[in-house]
Amino acid sequence: MAQLSRKKNKIAVVGGGPSGVYCALMILNLFEKNKFSDYEITIFEKDGFLKTILKTGNGRCNITNYTPDIRDFASNYPRGEKFLYSIFSKYFIFDTLDFFNSIGIETYVESDNRVFPVSQSAKDVRNKMLKALYSFDNVKCVKKCINFRSELCDFDFIIVSCGSRGSENLIKDFGHGLVEFKNALCALNISKKFSLEGVSVKSLEGDFIFTKNGVSGPLIFKISSINAYKNFPYEIKIKLFDENVLYDLISRFPKKTIGNLVSILIPRSLAKCLVSDFDLNACEVSKSKIFEYSFLKLNIVSASKVGEIVKAGGVKLDDLDNYCKSKIVKNLWFCGEIINVDGFCGGFNLQNCWSSAYCVAFDVVRSIISE
Ligand SMILES: Cc1cc2nc3c(=O)[nH]c(=O)nc-3n(C[C@H](O)[C@H](O)[C@H](O)COP(=O)(O)OP(=O)(O)OC[C@H]3O[C@@H](n4cnc5c(N)ncnc54)[C@H](O)[C@@H]3O)c2cc1C
Repeated sequence: MAQLSRKKNKIAVVGGGPSGVYCALMILNLFEKNKFSDYEITIFEKDGFLKTILKTGNGRCNITNYTPDIRDFASNYPRGEKFLYSIFSKYFIFDTLDFFNSIGIETYVESDNRVFPVSQSAKDVRNKMLKALYSFDNVKCVKKCINFRSELCDFDFIIVSCGSRGSENLIKDFGHGLVEFKNALCALNISKKFSLEGVSVKSLEGDFIFTKNGVSGPLIFKISSINAYKNFPYEIKIKLFDENVLYDLISRFPKKTIGNLVSILIPRSLAKCLVSDFDLNACEVSKSKIFEYSFLKLNIVSASKVGEIVKAGGVKLDDLDNYCKSKIVKNLWFCGEIINVDGFCGGFNLQNCWSSAYCVAFDVVRSIISE
């Protein structure tokens, strides 16, 4: 009887992307488990619900990364590593995989530890998450852009999960500190034009490809992420090959040109740009030159908009507790990319969404049930 006379606990989720929808699903599941129904969730989404998930993993959705040790996993986040220890200790990859399994999404692990749905379809992930969401009665999905805190005054509990594109005003309106958003996981533009567009290179540090204005590919995304807050221009040095392998080739083929031998290790077109004495007999080239040829030095002048898979920056972690609850505004939480956490490619950014969303859901449910 006491429950009937209480007002409904009204929960707002701002942003219907992966973190917002996952958070709503976790709240719904936790309440169902606790046989509690005196609440209502409204998810506000300005564009399409779970639209951002469709382009993940090139349409295949790299759900997470099978790295079972929390510290190893967290070392893949240039920003947020330590903050995530606590978040991952509450909800980690196995919980995520169990959940996806429970809604009919089977997964498999690729040789580099990336986890994908067996269906190889981000659309399938989206459809099954939305189907699970719509199976509950206590949730409303509203197409609306929320720009100000005052638009949410009807709600008792607010979760902000609107990602890192255009959320600055809302963060500031809540009085929260904001670490400036910067492009991460993106291609980089370089000062020198090599005319090598389309040439791909397997370096000792990872793979990359030359673009019209610079470089792109997995290694470059990682470099762009590490250097997200570095001022332009800056120099990077990529170790292309082990010089000992070249020494070995030289001792076997001393009369071949150095250019031809370097071309065994890297694309010939790149070797032509790097090796100044291309036609010299290999045995005549100094050790210091050989060492020099094993590196590619690039002068990075700007971040490209190409790629830009994630943005560094967001809600200051000092303003959040270890359930992503605001220390500044009562009954306010943040989850997903909007917090100042970003990871490398490989499923790390979505795992931040799933884990932070769960922590928020757990805390919201605990606050309501213990009221
Ligand atoms: C091309 C691409 C590929 C990617 N592939 C992968 C991958 O395979 N694996 C991986 O781990 N990560 C990947 N990522 C990163 C991952 O998609 C993001 O980290 C993740 O989508 C963040 O989820 P989110 O819900 O926090 O934010 P978002 O996905 O940005 O969702 C936020 C939602 O909020 C809505 N919104 C914003 N502001 C408002 C407002 N004021 N009012 C109402 N609604 C609002 C937006 O329309 C959006 O739907 C990829 C990203 C890109 C761009």
